[in-house]
Amino acid sequence: MKIETLLVRAGLQKDPLTGSISTPIYQSATFSHPELGKSTGYDYSRTANPTRTALEEAIAKLEGGQRGFAFSSGMAAITSILFLFKPGDHLIVSDDLYGGTYRLLEEVFSHYGISASYIDTSSPEAISESIISSTKGIFIETPTNPLMKVTDLGAALAIAKRHGLISIVDNTFMTPYLQQPISFGADIVMHSATKYLGGHNDAVAGLVVTADQELSEKLAKIHNGAGAILGPQDSWLILRGMKTLAIRLERQQENTQKIAEWLADHPSIEKVYYPGLKDHPQFEISTRQASGYGAMLSFTVKDISLVPVILKNLKIISFAESLGGVESLITYPATQTHADIPLEVREARGITDKLLRLSVGIEDAEDLINDLQSVLEVSDQIEAVRS
Ligand SMILES: *Cc1c(COP(=O)(O)O)cnc(C)c1O
Repeated sequence: MKIETLLVRAGLQKDPLTGSISTPIYQSATFSHPELGKSTGYDYSRTANPTRTALEEAIAKLEGGQRGFAFSSGMAAITSILFLFKPGDHLIVSDDLYGGTYRLLEEVFSHYGISASYIDTSSPEAISESIISSTKGIFIETPTNPLMKVTDLGAALAIAKRHGLISIVDNTFMTPYLQQPISFGADIVMHSATKYLGGHNDAVAGLVVTADQELSEKLAKIHNGAGAILGPQDSWLILRGMKTLAIRLERQQENTQKIAEWLADHPSIEKVYYPGLKDHPQFEISTRQASGYGAMLSFTVKDISLVPVILKNLKIISFAESLGGVESLITYPATQTHADIPLEVREARGITDKLLRLSVGIEDAEDLINDLQSVLEVSDQIEAVRS
């Protein structure tokens, strides 16, 4: 079955009672037992809930893994994955990654003796060079957030395998529709399902897929033990979102390519970061390992005074955190998603005060371009008045 069909069939399992096409929402904390020593397979909803199970089975199938787990947020998913490690363990982490993951490692897990080195995982040499005797895992985000650097998954995961590291890929930006890290050898794939999988900016959720039985059993203990599980209503919302993922992403990517090319030619724009542009340093790798370039792009303006003008005057594109939904959103990483990364570290990584990140939605591309055009014109006028 092709992935488009699998997506539509997410959660579509014959409900024996009614044949319901939409997955029923089992809003129950507990389930009665037929008799002593017997269970319907469901006892208590922290351990398992049928609506959540439908979502977990769907994501496992889509990522080509062994087992799926649904968490209350993407960060709850990452926290639970990090519980697989022990005090003294060292991790290699993509340097330009989601700010919350950096904050979790530096402000929470560092207290439990887990350390991380942030390196450019788009360089296989840099990965090899940073492995030390205590290195136990590698956490890759590709494309990265917000600079859209792409890691060669085949090369990076082969190094991880050679050194016996647990490899984790944050696949939020690409989704299984565009990229399937387990097929390149990843042990664990995670998603902030709040983003593309949900797709409508209406639910916060995290999903994890494990590639083998041993990791599945370990993570199942953490999932049930720590209990950061996704509720049945939100499980249903994510399942509902996933059904339209393929057509949403097709449209979003088409829009993004047009906007990226338009911005790249605009005189007020310094640089555009999008893996679908031929001059992107990892254009070839992206083309090889993913079936598309996604719908996230970042850009820097030439003049920093444009930033507030753009953020205040856009009419269709909303100035808001998050990404991946049907509505286009623009964020300012310096004060939003990446505010917790110290200034020197942030600037050294290229996340400067001139950088804006755009999550492109499913609106009409021309409307989006006109929205950007109008704010850049406003800023040209301000420039003219000033000079
Ligand atoms: C949003 C995001 C997260 C965190 O997920 P939440 O659902 O917000 O907890 C992790 N990784 C990436 C790449 C994200 O975009």
